[in-house]
Amino acid sequence: HPELKTLVDTARFHAAHRPSATAVLCEGRSLTYLELHQESNRIAHSIRASGAAPGARIAYLGKESEHYYEILFGCAKSGTVLVPINWRLTAPEVSHILRDSGSELLFLEEDFAPVLERLPAAPPKTVVRLGSADGFPAWKAAHPTTDLAPPVHPDTPVAQLYTSGTTGLPKGVVLAHRSFFAVRDALASEGLDWIDWRTGDTALIGIPGFHVGGLWWAAQNLNAGVTVVAMRAFAARDAIDLIRDLGITTACVVPAMLRMMLGEPGAVPDDFTTLRKIVYGGSPISEALLEESLAMFGAEFAQIYGLTETGNTAVCLPPADHVPGHPRMQAAGHPYPGVRSKVIDDDGRELPPGAIGEVCLATPAHMVEYWGLPEKTAETLVGGWIHTGDAGYVDEDGYVFIRDRIKDTILVAGENVYPAEIENALEHHPGVAEAVIVGAPDEQWGETVHAFVVAVPGQQPAPRDLHRFLIDRLAAFKLPARYEFIDHVPRNPSGKILRRELRDRFWSDSERKVN
Ligand code: ATP
Repeated sequence: HPELKTLVDTARFHAAHRPSATAVLCEGRSLTYLELHQESNRIAHSIRASGAAPGARIAYLGKESEHYYEILFGCAKSGTVLVPINWRLTAPEVSHILRDSGSELLFLEEDFAPVLERLPAAPPKTVVRLGSADGFPAWKAAHPTTDLAPPVHPDTPVAQLYTSGTTGLPKGVVLAHRSFFAVRDALASEGLDWIDWRTGDTALIGIPGFHVGGLWWAAQNLNAGVTVVAMRAFAARDAIDLIRDLGITTACVVPAMLRMMLGEPGAVPDDFTTLRKIVYGGSPISEALLEESLAMFGAEFAQIYGLTETGNTAVCLPPADHVPGHPRMQAAGHPYPGVRSKVIDDDGRELPPGAIGEVCLATPAHMVEYWGLPEKTAETLVGGWIHTGDAGYVDEDGYVFIRDRIKDTILVAGENVYPAEIENALEHHPGVAEAVIVGAPDEQWGETVHAFVVAVPGQQPAPRDLHRFLIDRLAAFKLPARYEFIDHVPRNPSGKILRRELRDRFWSDSERKVN
């Protein structure tokens, strides 16, 4: 539907063309496309009546639900900006986001009411409680289902997402409607089916809606008139049951979710026969995990790479490049048509193919700005290029390879060591379930490589064996100086390893790596 350019168009169009088709399904409750349109109209009127003008920030603190999507479209239609908050955050963290965004209204799920009581600062002027009878339903019922005519166009901000803070204080990334249509337009411009949304699909949203990956996937599917199945919170068993019982055809997940589903006792390829496509990304994936996933899920795979700042994915590894053993399996992907990539050195000079530096992306889906941080915006969005903070290179064919975050790079005697490369190598060892590599300070070398290893149950290898295994695969300066066994890898909700948690104990406050 190339004529749809904003989420407002989306809601109107599908309400007219497929009113009784299911738009959102969550734990047995559902909304048709007509209901999504009408309920979001009520919400838009109610938001305006609360005093919030176009451009106002509207926060949401709760898990995934059908209400989340009514509210997203309600914000779009009132010209306001949705600020979804990670429900795992503590009261001071929530407070930071509410204050930073200047949210005027907060939608709050009852489960999170205690957070509101512990907020160190005053909550937003209006708090609408989801789940209490006199809360949300009464609040929106007071207004009609008629259309508003908001001043909305593709560049109008619609969402403000706080990056998870794995690399510092969360910043509000402002995204406009265009971020949720750019990939569709890019693929359609050349008739590519790297990711294809088909009416009649049933799409699983594994990634939370407060994360760009979840929001983007839901919006892309709703734009295409697809049924989206939202999970309150991801759990491997529930995901497998939903895929089998609802005949899910497409899913978007982070690699950690693939790992969890593969590790689920009793999971068999027969559970996944309806799956046509798995879109995955958000963090590096090891070859071992990717190959195992290809064998288990039997679907087409498409990797996506990008940041909240690039409006999610700017680069995609299409299904055709998922050939085990082929070097391209290690790529993050190729830019979409109309997206450009380049790699620069520390002085901002462009590097030739193959040379490692900072990956920069120019995409029509890029953020509007970091909210209230003009200097940070100017550092990250330079002349249309998003500086990703990721170390990587581009090959002769334009494929982008990500080594790691620049901030995670370990400097051993002046040599750059990329944790993901060593993790990848270690995960090929049969006794290793997962590995995390961090840098530890060292008087002689500056830093040394420290390996945290989660062993396959009952098969814990000796550090000596791991070392021998790596010697054949990696240059000497990349070899871990120490191996330490841990029970599980700490991750944030979007599946990223919380390296800081593992790394911090090696560094005193004064020498702590700035991140
Ligand atoms: P913060 O920036 O505060 O740490 P965050 O990590 O949640 O928050 P995102 O925008 O969600 O921010 O993450 C973007 C980063 O995720 C990229 O810069 C990259 O390091 C990593 N990433 C995303 N997709 C891939 C992929 N396919 N392969 C490797 N890394 C990826």
